[in-house]
Amino acid sequence: MWNLLEDLRRRENARRGYLEVKTPLIYDRSVWETSGHWAKFRGEMFLVAGEGEEPHAGLKPMNCPGHMLLFGSGLRSYRDLPLRYAESSTLHRNEPTGALHGLLRVRHVTQDDAHIFCTREQISEEIFGCLDYAAYLYDLFGMDAAFELSTRPENRLGTDEEWDFTEEALREALDQRGLEYFVGEGEGAFYGPKIDLHMKDVLGRSWQMGTIQLDALMPKQFGLTYMGADNVEHTPYVVHRALLGSLERFMGILIEHYGGVFPVWLAPVQVRVLPVAEAHAAAADALVTALAAAGVRADADERDETLGKRIRDAELAKIPYVVVWGDRETREAMAVRRRGGEGVTTESLESLVEAISSEHPEPV
Ligand code: ZN
Repeated sequence: MWNLLEDLRRRENARRGYLEVKTPLIYDRSVWETSGHWAKFRGEMFLVAGEGEEPHAGLKPMNCPGHMLLFGSGLRSYRDLPLRYAESSTLHRNEPTGALHGLLRVRHVTQDDAHIFCTREQISEEIFGCLDYAAYLYDLFGMDAAFELSTRPENRLGTDEEWDFTEEALREALDQRGLEYFVGEGEGAFYGPKIDLHMKDVLGRSWQMGTIQLDALMPKQFGLTYMGADNVEHTPYVVHRALLGSLERFMGILIEHYGGVFPVWLAPVQVRVLPVAEAHAAAADALVTALAAAGVRADADERDETLGKRIRDAELAKIPYVVVWGDRETREAMAVRRRGGEGVTTESLESLVEAISSEHPEPV
């Protein structure tokens, strides 16, 4: 499932003009001082220090500083923008033990993260892009996200004029897309307003999933500029966005959302092959190999249990397709049981593979 979410992220990022990047896990303390994390977030970071020494580096709790360095590593022109860096590298956050909560809150966090560097004029278009992308993803999983617009906090940087502009940009994007949202007054980040996507789990607890944040501050702290059409250097805006949010948390929510009955394309095992007797084990193994070669995730249950027991176990495991292989089966005519279906149908290997691949969501 993890790999499927990764595949989905990569495919959609490529289609939507993101550049897949890879940045280091550990940075020198000076980078964290520049980003402000050393002052504000240090207690939640895993720091690196020699014996009896002051920490001189830290594991990244966020990808932003690495992406800022990447942007700053070359000369940029307005023609290069928008520049969209995507990365789902591992982040570490030293959450207190009491805050940890299954997959929903962990210290090893992997976001479907991206940073979009753009001009002031490009902000609206980029926010639209993020909202449409989020809608596509949540739709795939049949989920309804609640949107929250978080506005300027008490403690903030930047002028009121600037906040008027950035808040309005986010509000307009939500309105134009006809999305309902609630406003979290004063809930914005100190550097800019944001749109948060919330999901409720089966117990009705609300979890923050994705976030779309508009930032005019961090690029300034890193001294980032691009050459404008007017031949003057400007500071880019940055949209920080993660749409599924933490993949760990998203998987936790998915497991609850589907109650373990995953859609065929997402099911860890799509086909289970059950040899009727020991004599059929070799044919069952060969079928698993053939299914794998066709891109289907399959396994065989060759335990010394009755066929009925193994069928029940496959049903309990919510495996979408079960093939029972006995004396009469051939690859042209196999006995196939569908999850939740009525009895057994006869299918060829080819038609089974086709049925499974047709359930994989296509890009839109
Ligand atoms: Zn960021």
